[in-house]
Amino acid sequence: MGAIQSHLLRGWIFTKNISTMINIVLFGPPGSGKGTQSEKLIEKYGLNHLSTGDILRSELANSTPLGKKAKAFMNRGDLVPDKDVIEMVINKLDSYEDANGFIFDGFPRTQEQARFLRHHLTDRDLRVTLMIRLEVAHEELVKRLLLRGEKTGRTDDEISIIENRIDVYLQQSEPVVEFYEKMRKYVPIIGAGTIDDIFYRICQAIDARI
Ligand code: ADP
Repeated sequence: MGAIQSHLLRGWIFTKNISTMINIVLFGPPGSGKGTQSEKLIEKYGLNHLSTGDILRSELANSTPLGKKAKAFMNRGDLVPDKDVIEMVINKLDSYEDANGFIFDGFPRTQEQARFLRHHLTDRDLRVTLMIRLEVAHEELVKRLLLRGEKTGRTDDEISIIENRIDVYLQQSEPVVEFYEKMRKYVPIIGAGTIDDIFYRICQAIDARI
């Protein structure tokens, strides 16, 4: 199938599902449980998972040009430049032919990324259903990430990099809350308690919107 046809076909599929599509932005500091809750949400609501952290790690593992560029930023716990992340997200979104919707996990992380996502979805007559922020205390985040580092060997789960990632989150990513608050899409959820308790709270928030 040629590029134009497949693009048109994609447009048609997206148009067809507009009223039932659920697009959730799962937001929160590193270690707040976005990945864990994403897995459960995908299963319950049949959504596609778009985790910019996972995609970047796979680019890095495959030593692609983007991976090579992103490596230094990720190793320090800094954000990869917007331009590169946005281009990567465009490619990823275009690779899905059919979807009930998406969980955006770790994206958008800056206001620039949030503006891009709004335009990209609006152009397709789509929108973000809800932006959920998982709220977890600083000490608990550090504890969880150190434990994850021990278990998985993730090299950025090391104390000085963890502290930088939390700082970067507070300074560069927190303003994204305001972006969605203005659109009345922002819902804070307490990210402490058991995985199932937190999942229950998230589902209640989603079900109230759809
Ligand atoms: P965490 O939320 O635990 O920090 P992620 O797996 O989401 O972990 O991200 C790991 C790293 O990947 C980040 O520290 C950052 O360098 C990079 N990254 C992920 N998502 C983005 C994004 N949307 N914009 C810029 N950099 C990103």
